[in-house]
Amino acid sequence: MSNCLFCRIVAGEIPAKIAYEDEDVIAFHDLNPQAPLHVLVIPRKHIATINDIQPDDAALIGKLYLAAKQVAADAGYADDGYRVVMNCGADAGQSVFHIHLHVLAGRHLSWPPG
Ligand code: IMP
Repeated sequence: MSNCLFCRIVAGEIPAKIAYEDEDVIAFHDLNPQAPLHVLVIPRKHIATINDIQPDDAALIGKLYLAAKQVAADAGYADDGYRVVMNCGADAGQSVFHIHLHVLAGRHLSWPPG
């Protein structure tokens, strides 16, 4: 989708600090980090929200989590812990409508979130 910010990052039209990439998934540092590590993991394929995920996407969604695990491990947070979260819709705070896992680490993360 040409008007999707994250599709434009996938296409290389908008620069991003890449943390991980493969044929299906790309991970890059958040522009406005909320923790010492804050990386977004996205599918190259445009999927707007969790509500748009289809059964055929199941393996792709699994790859997002494998990439999140890799990003956290590469940054040295596998043992201390990290949070992986995906917002869905306005009330959850989703502001970019191309699904993305937030990978957050490097400080104590309180629960429940606000
Ligand atoms: P959401 O609020 O869950 O949709 O998360 C969107 C995230 O994208 C926010 O944490 C933003 O800071 C981040 N973001 C927005 N634009 C960019 C960008 O161009 N590069 C990297 N991160 C971005």
